Amino acid sequence: MSVSKERTVSLWMNTEVAPDDSPLRGTETADVVVVGSGIAGLSTACELAQRGKDVVVLDRGPIGKGMTSRTTAHLVAISDDSFDAFIKLRGLKLAKLYYKSQSAAVDRIEKVQADERIACNFRRVDGFLFPAIGSDPSELSPELEASRRIGVAVEEAEGVPFKGQDTVRCLRYLDQGTFHPLKYLRGLADAILSRKGRLYADSVVESVEEDDGVVTVRTTEGHTVRAKAAVVATNSPINDRVALHTKQAPYRTYAMAYTIPRGTMPDALYWDTLDPYHYVRLQPGPGTTDYLIVGGADHKTGEADDAWVRFEGLESWIRGLVPELGRETHRWSGQIMDPIDYSGFIGRAPGAKNVYIATGDSGQGITHGVVASLITKRGSAWEELYDPSRKTVSAIKNFITENVTAVKNFGEYVPPGELKSTEDLMLGQARSSAKAWPRSQPIAVRMAPCIAAPPCARMSAATCTGIRSKSVGTVRVTDRILRLMGLR
Ligand SMILES: Cc1cc2nc3c(=O)[nH]c(=O)nc-3n(C[C@H](O)[C@H](O)[C@H](O)COP(=O)(O)OP(=O)(O)OC[C@H]3O[C@@H](n4cnc5c(N)ncnc54)[C@H](O)[C@@H]3O)c2cc1C
Repeated sequence: MSVSKERTVSLWMNTEVAPDDSPLRGTETADVVVVGSGIAGLSTACELAQRGKDVVVLDRGPIGKGMTSRTTAHLVAISDDSFDAFIKLRGLKLAKLYYKSQSAAVDRIEKVQADERIACNFRRVDGFLFPAIGSDPSELSPELEASRRIGVAVEEAEGVPFKGQDTVRCLRYLDQGTFHPLKYLRGLADAILSRKGRLYADSVVESVEEDDGVVTVRTTEGHTVRAKAAVVATNSPINDRVALHTKQAPYRTYAMAYTIPRGTMPDALYWDTLDPYHYVRLQPGPGTTDYLIVGGADHKTGEADDAWVRFEGLESWIRGLVPELGRETHRWSGQIMDPIDYSGFIGRAPGAKNVYIATGDSGQGITHGVVASLITKRGSAWEELYDPSRKTVSAIKNFITENVTAVKNFGEYVPPGELKSTEDLMLGQARSSAKAWPRSQPIAVRMAPCIAAPPCARMSAATCTGIRSKSVGTVRVTDRILRLMGLR
C-alpha cells in the first residue's frame, strides 16, 4: 500500500507530480534503474539524466507520493540529533563532513530549481533553535560550542516571534532553506522526462538481482528492467532485509497546517530543544494568507496509539505561542527512519557491486535524499560518512535501544497464537490489533519490512527486526547483536 492512500492528507499531497504516469509493462533496459520516486529517487534520477545517463524510475504507487509528500520540508544543514551529540558519537571530522554535505544539498536544491525553472517557493531563510518552554536556556551552550567547532554559520540571538518568547536566548543558523516539496518533485519529474527518462508508477519491485555486471529489477507483475546499476531509494530498504534494518528505527511524526495572516511573523524555520522537538515554518498561501505548519510529537512506530491526542497537544502548543493562528486546514502524520549513528545510509549496498541504496534520513530526509544524488559522483568525500556498510562501534547503546523497541513494536501488531513461526508472516503483512507478542515465542525474531497501522494513518511502512531475550525486557549484547551490527 502506498502512503498516498493513508487517511490523513498533507498540505501538498494533492499536487500531481507526474500526471501521465503508468505502470511498467514488458522489459526495459537502461543505464540506471531507480526504485522509489521520492526526493531521493527523483533527485538521483535527475542528476544522472542531466549527466546523459539513460534512467528508468519505478514506484509501487503514484510518482512522488511516498513520505516526501508528507514532509514539512525544512531544508537545514544542522544535525537534528544535535552537533554536540554528533561529535561525541562520530568525531569532529565526520561532523564537519555532515555539515558540508547537508549544506551542499540545500545549495543543490537552490541550483536545480533555478536551472530547471521549477516554481516551488524555494526561499533562503534563517533557522532558530530556541529552548523548550520551561527549560533552561543555558542548555543551548553545548550546541553553540559544537556548531562553532564545526564552522557552522551560527550566532546567538535574542527572541523568537512567539508569545512570551521575545527575549528568550536562541541560536540563529543563517541561510537555511525551505520550499514546496511536491512542486519541486514535479519539476524533477519534468526534467527527467525531458531527457528521455521513463517514470513508471504502480510497479511494485520485488527483487533486485546482480549477475555478470547486469542488475535485473523485477516487479510483482513479472516485468523487468535490466540496467548497469540500480539505486534503491525506497525510504525503508527492500533489498537488505537485516543489516540496515537493525541500524535505524522507524518513528512516526505529526504535522498540522493553519492559516495565518501574512506578515504575522518573519519567514524562518523554528524548532525547540524538546525531545521530541517541535518544528514550525511558513508556506505562502492565497491572497494575504499564509500557512503555518507545525510538527512534532514523534514516537517510535508501534509504541503509541493516540494520534488524535498528539494532534491536540500540537494544537494547544502552537495556539499558546501564536494567538493570531487561523483555522486548521490539514493534519497528517508520516514516518521517518532514524539511524543509530545520526547519518543516513547512502552508497553501495552491503555485499553488492552495482546496487546502491539511500535510507536512514531521520528528520532530515529531504536533504539526505539530495545528498544521495550528489554521492553518485565517484570519489565523493562523503562516502565514509554515509557508507551503508559502516560499523559505528560507539553506537552500540543506540543499536540495542532501537532493536528492543522494534521487537516490542512487532509484538503490538501480531495477535497471540496467529503465527507458528516467523515464516508465517508475509512480506508487508499488516495487523492493527494491539495484543502482545506471546512470551513463549522464539528468542530471536527477524522480519522483512512489515506494516504497522496507527489508526490515524491506517497503514505505514515499518521495519521490524530484533532480538528478544527469554526474560522479556532484558537484552544482552549477544553474538547475534554483534553479528547484526557487522562487528563479528
Ligand atoms: C511529517 C514529516 C515531516 C518531515 N519533515 C522533514 C523536514 O522538515 N525536513 C526534512 O529534511 N525531512 C523531513 N521529513 C523526512 C522526509 O520527508 C523523508 O525522510 C523523505 O521525504 C524521504 O524521502 P525518500 O525519497 O527517501 O522516500 P519516499 O518519499 O517515501 O520515496 C520512496 C518511494 O519508494 C516507493 N517504494 C517503496 N517500496 C517500493 C517497492 N517495493 N517498489 C517500488 N517502489 C517502492 C514508495 O512508494 C515511495 O514513493 C519529514 C517526514 C515527515 C513524515
